[in-house]
Amino acid sequence: MLNFCSLYSGSSGNSLLVESDNSKILIDCGVSSKKIEQALNSMSINASSIDAVLVTHEHVDHVKGLATFISKFDVPVFSTIETFDNMEKITSKIPESNLNYFKIDEKFSIGDLEILPFAIPHDAANPCGFNIFSDNKKLSIATDIGHMNSGILKKLEGSSFLLLESNYDTEVLKCCSYPFSLKSRISGPTGHLSNDIASKTISYLLKNGLKTAMLGHLSKESNFPELAYSTAMNEILSNGLDEKTFNLSVASRDFPSKLITI
Ligand SMILES: [Zn+2]
Ligand SMILES: [Zn+2]
Repeated sequence: MLNFCSLYSGSSGNSLLVESDNSKILIDCGVSSKKIEQALNSMSINASSIDAVLVTHEHVDHVKGLATFISKFDVPVFSTIETFDNMEKITSKIPESNLNYFKIDEKFSIGDLEILPFAIPHDAANPCGFNIFSDNKKLSIATDIGHMNSGILKKLEGSSFLLLESNYDTEVLKCCSYPFSLKSRISGPTGHLSNDIASKTISYLLKNGLKTAMLGHLSKESNFPELAYSTAMNEILSNGLDEKTFNLSVASRDFPSKLITI
């Protein structure tokens, strides 16, 4: 068994759940610990049954509730050493015995989940996405990506399930109220992934084993769930793929998604 649920996903905060027969992990704690606990409770999961939290990078939308969650429920947290070093205020509130390090491109295990962190281009210390393997299945999580490259594509190939960033629509970003410097950062090579590139990536991967894709980490100001979905769906269908052969959805910023069995 390999299950996935997006508890919260968006520029306002991220936390994702992956569950196997004997393990449950969260990727990021980017909303309050209380909100994460509520989302887990709504799925009849006790927060203290979480086996580990993996952290992609130190930006607040990924670590806001981390220190409280880790301390309250005594859960081990895993990240790169550079990520921990660049969020001193949070790391200092976490008991040393809960801190665990991984290296990019080196596999490690949590129960029956095998995890491979891979590098992503983003303006953080040492940010990563994850391939997670269990039960002969592969799922991938990739958000906060400034641009798509062949290295990431290779990591995503062969995934049955993918949560991929679809952060902004190029035209909406141009017109939104963000200052110019923020617009440049978002659309820059170490910012975020556009709907167009996310759509092309998913379209390519659907021809390489992907069955279910969820668009995530949408911007509140420069995107709309319907627009992200229709951009991806139009791109996929224009590539001749049959709508009945795959599942596409958009993760909500405010509510848990349905539990997806991979
Ligand atoms: Zn970020
Ligand atoms: Zn983010």
